[in-house]
Amino acid sequence: MEFINLAGLTEDQKMIRASTLDLLNKALPFENIREMDEKREFPHAAYDALAEAGYMGLFYPEEYGGMGASHNDLAAFVETLGYYYTGVAQGFMTTVIYGGMHIVNSGSEEMKKEILPQIISGKTKISLAMSEPGTGSDVAGIKTTAIRDGDDYVINGQKVWITCAHVADKLVVVTKNDPKAARHKGMSVILVDAKAPGVTIRPLKMLGRRTTHANEVTFDNVRVPVKNLIGEEGGAWKSMMKCLNVERLVLSAISTGHCYRITDYAADYAKDRIQFDQPISKFQVIQHKLVDMLMAAETSRQATYRVADLLDAGENAVRETSFAKIISSDANFKCADMGLQVMGGAGYSAEYMMEMYFRDSRVGPIGGGSNEIQRNIIAKLMDL
Ligand SMILES: Cc1cc2nc3c(=O)[nH]c(=O)nc-3n(C[C@H](O)[C@H](O)[C@H](O)COP(=O)(O)OP(=O)(O)OC[C@H]3O[C@@H](n4cnc5c(N)ncnc54)[C@H](O)[C@@H]3O)c2cc1C
Repeated sequence: MEFINLAGLTEDQKMIRASTLDLLNKALPFENIREMDEKREFPHAAYDALAEAGYMGLFYPEEYGGMGASHNDLAAFVETLGYYYTGVAQGFMTTVIYGGMHIVNSGSEEMKKEILPQIISGKTKISLAMSEPGTGSDVAGIKTTAIRDGDDYVINGQKVWITCAHVADKLVVVTKNDPKAARHKGMSVILVDAKAPGVTIRPLKMLGRRTTHANEVTFDNVRVPVKNLIGEEGGAWKSMMKCLNVERLVLSAISTGHCYRITDYAADYAKDRIQFDQPISKFQVIQHKLVDMLMAAETSRQATYRVADLLDAGENAVRETSFAKIISSDANFKCADMGLQVMGGAGYSAEYMMEMYFRDSRVGPIGGGSNEIQRNIIAKLMDL
């Protein structure tokens, strides 16, 4: 069953949704996803198929080979990826949004002309390396240094939980180039070749998101030319702030798609599963759980498209973006938890998809600025 209501999407968005699902079904048959998760393999075929169809450039400016799509179009596309398989959505988001949007928003003209077409063609994958062992929520406290030496920066330090770094060609690294500078100051974003001497990438075992991994990345005297600076020296905070709204829009859209997938999957199971001589979907308590899941999906969807609308209208919708991030990531885990309960022992078993959905959805309230940090942002905007 498919519960999502496509009314309200434009004809183009409906077409993007249908063709994306078709393309993904061919490149990564749905029944192969669980095995890929078990093997912890990046979904290369699906990623390459999306690139070949031009979708990596959907949101990028036309002058660099993109399609110049709106935030609404982006939300509709990413919701579809999240619906099919969140691993593909994470792969897209990490390169195109987390890494790539730093270049779009703050990169030099030369860097944009060189790197953006490579992202669009699928040739270059990028990870964003911001979090460190001692610094997660408190990004301004990072310790990785990039010290100027002639025409180079020399980078030393360690990053953790870096999604997709094990398959990345480039890393967008947030560094401190003036260790004595005050918090939020003396920080710079630098594009680093993932294969550069001194860069070590180690995949880490996590509860979920096994195909896009989180990785530890170590920088040991890594030399990077000054031209790889993204934005101004000392301008990292500005560069990061410019990217936050779209990052959180995309996170919300992925969670929304995932909510719908989980609800469809649990409802299909409930209609087939017979207990006491009838499908369990006939029990009112199961029906109510499925209704609550669908309402969580719909609420997440409304919050997501509200942000897309505001961003398309040119609003700096920080408050609504934080609302959406909290609502959608909480809804995602709630749907997975309830879906697992609807399926009983089958929900808890790796023979079915639900346990993967449960594991994959748990990180939403932690990553991308935890939901506690989002509430701090909202509280500040409320002048509390
Ligand atoms: C699967 C996964 C993928 C990730 N991918 C990336 C990536 O690609 N790139 C990257 O740079 N990072 C990535 N991260 C890191 C992620 O951004 C951080 O985990 C997140 O910001 C939280 O930081 P932390 O884990 O250090 O937790 P901490 O900051 O130590 O927080 C621990 C707890 O304390 C709470 N807390 C902290 N400060 C406050 C406060 N001021 N007020 C209230 N509560 C607070 C937090 O909300 C949390 O509940 C990823 C993480 C995971 C788990």
